[in-house]
Amino acid sequence: MSETAATHTVHGTCHHDCPDSCGWVVTVESGSSRADGPVAVQLRGNPAHPFSQGELCPKVNRFLDRVYSPERVLHPLRRVGAKGEGRFEQISWTEALAEIAGRWAEIIATDGAEAILPYVSAGNQGLLALMFGNRFWNHMGALGVDGSLCGAVAGAGAATTNGSGKGIDPSDMVHSKLIILWGTNTRLTNRHLWPFIEQARAKGAQVIVIDPIRTITAESADWFLQPLPGTDVALMLAMMHVLIRDGLIDHEWVAAHTIGFDDLAAHVAEWTPERAAATCGIAVAAIERLATLYGTIRPAALRTLIGAEHHEHGAMFFRTLACLPALVGAWRDLGGGFSRSVGVWSSAVLDEGALTRPDLLAGREPRGVWMPHLGRVLTDTVAPVKSLLFVAVNAMVSVPNTELVREGLLRDDLFTVVHDQFLTDTAQYADIVLPATTHIEATDVVTAWGHLYLGWNEAAIPPQGEAVSNSELHRRLAAAMGYSEPLLFEDDITALRAALPTIDLDRLRAEGFLRVPYPEDGRPFADGGFATPSGKVLLRCDALAAEGHPVLPTYIAAGEAPSAEYPFALLTPKQHTRFLNSSYSHLPKHGPLEGGPFVELVASDAERLGLSDGALARVWNDRASLELPVRVSERLRPGVVAVPWGWWGAQHADGKVANSLTNDTLTDWGGGVAYSDTAVAVAAV
Ligand code: SF4
Repeated sequence: MSETAATHTVHGTCHHDCPDSCGWVVTVESGSSRADGPVAVQLRGNPAHPFSQGELCPKVNRFLDRVYSPERVLHPLRRVGAKGEGRFEQISWTEALAEIAGRWAEIIATDGAEAILPYVSAGNQGLLALMFGNRFWNHMGALGVDGSLCGAVAGAGAATTNGSGKGIDPSDMVHSKLIILWGTNTRLTNRHLWPFIEQARAKGAQVIVIDPIRTITAESADWFLQPLPGTDVALMLAMMHVLIRDGLIDHEWVAAHTIGFDDLAAHVAEWTPERAAATCGIAVAAIERLATLYGTIRPAALRTLIGAEHHEHGAMFFRTLACLPALVGAWRDLGGGFSRSVGVWSSAVLDEGALTRPDLLAGREPRGVWMPHLGRVLTDTVAPVKSLLFVAVNAMVSVPNTELVREGLLRDDLFTVVHDQFLTDTAQYADIVLPATTHIEATDVVTAWGHLYLGWNEAAIPPQGEAVSNSELHRRLAAAMGYSEPLLFEDDITALRAALPTIDLDRLRAEGFLRVPYPEDGRPFADGGFATPSGKVLLRCDALAAEGHPVLPTYIAAGEAPSAEYPFALLTPKQHTRFLNSSYSHLPKHGPLEGGPFVELVASDAERLGLSDGALARVWNDRASLELPVRVSERLRPGVVAVPWGWWGAQHADGKVANSLTNDTLTDWGGGVAYSDTAVAVAAV
């Protein structure tokens, strides 16, 4: 620090796509020696934050490297090379907006606003980031986007059983005596929950992990079960079979608070442990033990997050899992029940209408496309999209069937705009790139989905270069389009007050975080009161029949499964501590330190294929072919391989990424995608 500089601290909240929404403190230096204005010199966890308790994570500990990276996009850019080549020239905001507005006006005049696609994902989870895009695109009448790459299926699946996606506050698992972490790598992707689980263990809780990969969380568990990918529902049905057979059902609670028990009991009679063992590859004795532990230990918490939804029958996973706590009356206990994303509890303080502004559609009902089907949408010749704006998403790394997306983005007649902090793989295909602020350059409010605290995020430093926040981006676009609707130009604080009408925003700003309403005794459904029409858990959900789904929890094998041609099941997990989804992996102290992309397989498969550690393997299917170094481990089952995702094309030898291989089949319901039902072949190069 210079002698003439002064420092102050600013409180904020991480709004990456992560359940933890950590509180932080930014130290800002300003003074006569800082000709370029205030500079953030330190970013540390806020020790007062009730959930993150002063800790961040290995990626965000280096957040200032990201803010001040020489690779930041700081000015609007116009493409001068071929699409994908990555050659741009700097232009002014005036030029950029004039070109975008001119092209969009032409498209609207000739093809209608539905030929323009806004493609927004979870790279920024602030409320403002969401609000102004909704307003702008509704006012324009642009193409609608249904479904989601991540998160929607878990809630939709649970809601068919419980009427909503609500579960228990995960931090209440400190009271649990049995914690089953099902398809969630807590220590990696929800790291701030782990200390709560360790507290429970210190008081005698058992921790069981069920996952197709022996993750770092599995390594820390008391017991680890490793079903074959996508077979979990069979395991759950066998647990129900044992619970019923052995008299471990809480009949009083079931009679009072569920519908369809007799039908379910008849249905799972045939799901013996032996049958499930043959399907999911778990020993009969292990299935019996799992069910017995679950039926006899109280309080018992089932904890899951997002990963399990990435199967063709992902919604059925969450529907079926949500039935288990009802059968044993687990909801009665503090620390008992079903724990998943708690973002839905924030709905009590959010004005959904103010967030989404459907009134700005003015009665129009624009055509919608499925978000996971970006490649199909961009290569559709019947109703072609003529322009798209990517916001907070690096689609060329994150979207399944990536090579089809690439094919679409290469279209000469497609006008592509990207708002981002870096020249991502997606931005390489843009006609115009617009610079985006980082979290510490713009004020926002974050609604967490891993804990119950709303977080205020105060801008700590001015926007770098000519970067703008998502809300300012859409205000500028609205002005350039000549729109006059006042809501499109509202200031950020007014918009936040509208979105959070019952929250004292000044208090939130002063204190940094506020807890959203949640039952004081920590037992949200101890006496029923579910959000179904009857208020009861729907073990049998008749409404599913109208959608063509079984009314009872049912195991259904995925359409894409290992075959003679493609004999391996491919998983594309998160496996990195230094990067998050596609963020950070390109930065020098992040992705490269994780060792670069690889394909992981077990020794028996490697030996059979003539592969050893470090050898080069070809991994392919009908969608793509990648050459990757081999990593031999004992973390997977034979017949299962993993290519962790998140590295960019330039970090792969052939420019393709893990998602070049993945399946873009939609999930059963909820509008998600079956990334993890992908079959591949593997051979030595
Ligand atoms: S990425 Fe997640 S764990 Fe890391 S600081 Fe942000 S919220 Fe916390």
